[in-house]
Amino acid sequence: MQLPHAPARPLLTAVLLAVGSELTTGETRDTNSGDLAHSLADAGVDVAWIAALPDRLGAVTAALSDALAAADFVTTTGGLGPTPDDLTREAIADVCGEQPAVDPELERWLRHLFERRGIPFPETNLKQAWLIPSSTAIPNDRGTAPGWWVDRPDGRVVVALPGPPSEMRPMWQDWVLPRLRERGLGQERVTRTYRLTGIGESAVAALLGEPLLRAANPIVATYARSEAVDVRISAIAEADRPAAALVDEAETVILTALGQYVWGRDDDTWASVLGRDLADLGWTAALVELGTGGATTRLFGDAPWLKGARTTAADQRGEPGADAPLLDLANLSEQIRRESGASVGLAVRTAESGVDTQVELTLASPSGVREANLTAFLGGAEGRRRAGIHAAAFLHFFLRGEAPAGEVPAGEAPAGEAPAGRTEIEKVSRPAPRSGQ
Ligand code: ATP
Repeated sequence: MQLPHAPARPLLTAVLLAVGSELTTGETRDTNSGDLAHSLADAGVDVAWIAALPDRLGAVTAALSDALAAADFVTTTGGLGPTPDDLTREAIADVCGEQPAVDPELERWLRHLFERRGIPFPETNLKQAWLIPSSTAIPNDRGTAPGWWVDRPDGRVVVALPGPPSEMRPMWQDWVLPRLRERGLGQERVTRTYRLTGIGESAVAALLGEPLLRAANPIVATYARSEAVDVRISAIAEADRPAAALVDEAETVILTALGQYVWGRDDDTWASVLGRDLADLGWTAALVELGTGGATTRLFGDAPWLKGARTTAADQRGEPGADAPLLDLANLSEQIRRESGASVGLAVRTAESGVDTQVELTLASPSGVREANLTAFLGGAEGRRRAGIHAAAFLHFFLRGEAPAGEVPAGEAPAGEAPAGRTEIEKVSRPAPRSGQ
């Protein structure tokens, strides 16, 4: 498939182009490029940029030229349909300085597709049977648009895939990716992610400092996710040092600055981390929530360590009946612990306070009751969601025998950023947790 004169060229950098005016008008979201970028990043390819382009020949041709000047490998998705505004083939032909022509074998295949369904073949579809001399057809089992694999004389590669994700994905996965790998795709890349809570992304960035965040290798980046601020380290090997050593070095700096906020690594979730914390002690947990709409329970899902979970509207003041001390959250945490036979009982109550949310937490364990009052950033559903994360963090740091994560002004965290909380009261000092009940 490779041109006889094409030099071997490692494919280390890529540009992704998504073609289609439906993308630039916002009618369709470009999920293809995200999928491809993920796959390429996993393969250790540096994606230089991603662009969405309208169905205009000049725009697609210009973007392809720029992309080929910048990267070893360019993928386009979309614009392979039969209509005059499907222009990706024309643009690639232009950039390569080659003439498209109908390929007889592709034409037979295409005509057969229509015969099979008893539909007359629209001659406009013939452009889907085009190839240029330097292209090879990429079979499409799910549609009428074959892709193109194009070898450039300098060893660069252009791949054109159809727009529908149901066609694009299998063609990429089953046909393109294995061939790219044969060519030498990407470099070994080591990545490690730390998951933080109790600190906003901007404070994380300030503690890490600009030199570390701007370094090219290892790359250290922060991401505000809904359940954490993630700090991701990613490195490729250098002549004298393996990638893992570079990551280890950055990790030492990061943990020194931010270790107290770390609750997880890589793919950890709150449910998995708490599961590990509890398993280390041979413990289980139970939960009662008031006024949260079940935000904490949702965070834990159907975790096997959660022996009981109850959600109550805040104005019901917890358990109905008798002479229960309705407002006593400590009682509720002890009660749910006893009722469900769990080792720890966690009670969470939220109430909106101005634009933010007040969060009360109590945790009953074999070593006594611990309480905290915090302010979660924002009100409404977002405040309640953040309250759930505060509750998870409270339990996690308790189980680990560590101090809760530090103080952050509530206004610091923008929407979507990990929870920022202020611990206002902490009653009942906490002896180290013991194993067993
Ligand atoms: P076809 O011949 O099947 O139409 P095509 O290559 O011409 O293939 P387009 O016409 O550009 O593809 O897009 C067809 C559909 O595929 C779009 O209407 C959209 O639903 C989806 N699609 C296109 N590009 C993308 C993209 N980048 N991300 C997600 N979906 C996309």
